[in-house]
Amino acid sequence: MEAKSLRTWPQIPLYLQIVIALVLAIVAGIGLGAGQPSPEGITLSNNLAVPCNLILKALRALATPLILLAVLHTFLTTNIPHRSSRRLAILLLTNTMVAILIGLLVANILQPGAWSGNLITPMGSSQVAGKPLDPWGLLQDMVPSSVLQPMVDNNVLQLIFVALIFGVVFRALKAEQIAKEQLDYTGLERAIGVLLEAIVRILGWVIALIPIAVFGIVAKTIAQEGFTPFKTLGAFVIAVLIALSLQAVYYLVRVQLDSWVKPSYFLREGSDALLTAFSTSSSTVTMPVTFRVLIEKIGLRESSASLGAIVGTNFNNDGTALYEAMAALFISQVLGLHLSLPQQFIVVITSIFASVGAAGIPNAGLVTMTLVFTSVNLPTQYIALLITVDWFLDRCRTAINVMGDMTVSAILDGKERQDLE
Ligand code: ASP
Repeated sequence: MEAKSLRTWPQIPLYLQIVIALVLAIVAGIGLGAGQPSPEGITLSNNLAVPCNLILKALRALATPLILLAVLHTFLTTNIPHRSSRRLAILLLTNTMVAILIGLLVANILQPGAWSGNLITPMGSSQVAGKPLDPWGLLQDMVPSSVLQPMVDNNVLQLIFVALIFGVVFRALKAEQIAKEQLDYTGLERAIGVLLEAIVRILGWVIALIPIAVFGIVAKTIAQEGFTPFKTLGAFVIAVLIALSLQAVYYLVRVQLDSWVKPSYFLREGSDALLTAFSTSSSTVTMPVTFRVLIEKIGLRESSASLGAIVGTNFNNDGTALYEAMAALFISQVLGLHLSLPQQFIVVITSIFASVGAAGIPNAGLVTMTLVFTSVNLPTQYIALLITVDWFLDRCRTAINVMGDMTVSAILDGKERQDLE
């Protein structure tokens, strides 16, 4: 799961490749007509979208195995003491809910997607039918008609349901076998670990192609629609940054109220982890740094640090949840569709699940986002637009994911500073 394996051209970092692709795409887009393309310009620029479409297809295909294996892997390998599990679950859920609500609130108030004046030609947006909220239907829908159905339908709720059930059972079997000194579970544990690594590696190949996709989609968009869509994208980036900052403020308030750690101390001493998260775009790669910083610099007990850093890294991705919800709302605004409150509720639920399943690797949020879009019938091809800014927003939301884990650790450490273990 090393970040290094996600880059195939080690000399030029991925973000720089994307920046270069963006510059070249602007030149190509202007050359092809900058909003007033000739008929040949249209044909040519349509072909430029092919790599992006292929990448989106690959991301959609990888989403379900990634989530399934990441959840099973976490269940099999992490150690959660029984007495802390309820408190931890409540903490994680509240933080994620707050993140999503902040995201939705900011997106509803700022309406970043409306800045385009719906200039982006909706590609088949007429197919987007609004689903009314039906809580019982939602509940019934959680149980798939067959175990493999969620993989076929890319249904995130059903998938997480299946993953959680199997995760709980595997965990229980493992505990029983350990008690009887049997080792049968180790084969399964290793197989799941290897499969997860394989998916992450394949994802690495797909991600390595992102600069080409960015070039194609940006050149095509500029050629056919000019620069207006990018103003909208700029508005989206600003809106996400505002929402992530509000989430950071929420963490600091919680740290102040519910732990002995002072917010300024928390930020100063924790900065190594936050900066590592920003520079690697991966909370998993950052995890050892987070763990060390929590114990050695902030001075938390090892038990609190490990729950926040190790369990949190796997299950707690508030920045990702916030981003997924905002992205769904943004694209619906771009398409001139109004996601009703019930539909936004479905976005909340699926974003929670999608963020639980988003492994802490670069761009995982982009992968699981395909499932959030599917849940409210938003066409996933619009995620193409977001690919252009994901390299930057991924860094920011990863820093918030890690800050969320650190906050949980600080709160679990309590209001009184205890002697170090
Ligand atoms: N890169 C994020 C992380 O590692 C996941 C995401 O893509 O949202 O936490």
